[in-house]
Amino acid sequence: MEENKNKDYSILLYYCYAKIEDAEQYREEHHLFCVENNIRGRIIISDEGLNGTVSGLKEDCEKYMAYIHADPRFAKTEFKIDHHDKHAFTKIHVRYKPEIVHSSLRHLDPNVKTGKHLEPEEFKKLKDQEDVVILDVRSNYEHELGRFKNALTLDIDNFRDFPQKVKELEHLKNKKVLTYCTGGIKCEKASAFLLEQGFEDVYQLHGGIIKYGMEAGGEDFEGKCYVFDNRIAVDVNKVNPTIVSECHICGTKSDRMVNCANPTCNIHVPICENCGWEYEGACSSECKGNPEKRPYDGTGYYQKNTNGYNPYKGLHRKPDKEQIQKLHGEASHS
Ligand SMILES: [Zn+2]
Ligand SMILES: [Zn+2]
Repeated sequence: MEENKNKDYSILLYYCYAKIEDAEQYREEHHLFCVENNIRGRIIISDEGLNGTVSGLKEDCEKYMAYIHADPRFAKTEFKIDHHDKHAFTKIHVRYKPEIVHSSLRHLDPNVKTGKHLEPEEFKKLKDQEDVVILDVRSNYEHELGRFKNALTLDIDNFRDFPQKVKELEHLKNKKVLTYCTGGIKCEKASAFLLEQGFEDVYQLHGGIIKYGMEAGGEDFEGKCYVFDNRIAVDVNKVNPTIVSECHICGTKSDRMVNCANPTCNIHVPICENCGWEYEGACSSECKGNPEKRPYDGTGYYQKNTNGYNPYKGLHRKPDKEQIQKLHGEASHS
């Protein structure tokens, strides 16, 4: 890889609900900006706004944030900024989709109505009060690894199943409901939906678990926070950290997230140190016996194959000669 330990990288997490009239065309422009500034990650652009997690050199990320803020539509975008010694993504994907989070709640516009935003310190003060319910709106694989103490979690595999589950929450209609998610984006719609369903007092943790960790020390967040980049999980709680997840194989407490060594299974689950070696990085005996199984080096992380990867793919405007040469130059160093 071309990454250098001494170089300072940033990881940005952000979203912005804002009308984009020319979303597909804007996607092209945005993609090109990323490629030219060596920004990698996953970005979704839709008619209702932007959502992204990206990584890049600190100075490139500064440029990227300035680029987004310079557009009046996205001037209010808040970035959660983390630091890292390398890129947190292998590739750049900038996709046009009908929603910035797949929610089956397209009719709701958070700019019109949504739950009251709580800053991390306000959330921290409110969360232990009587008559308050803390509602985790994320999916099983996320809250199983980490969640707020006393949080109510939902048995869902995908956020689009959230609306259906709300029927089970009828008894909480007169309570103060505080929703939270990873970076705040899901809560914009989840809290709006609760209001629409007749919940009266609905709040949302602005900036999600990530901002809470940065600004409020992460107190009472138990376990780790699942993230959608190569890091898989990050620490949040610097005040009273604990482990809530269990080894997928033996059931002892473990927050060591491992990617199953069987590439056709590939699930992300916690597997303890011992079971990791015993099962050679696989999640079950069956996966251990798979002939395609990748060699286990104790980390449970497998470098994604980037052969033939071209960051310009998907762009209508083709790179010029100089850019192609630059690409080849970079490839030969990696
Ligand atoms: Zn184990
Ligand atoms: Zn497996």
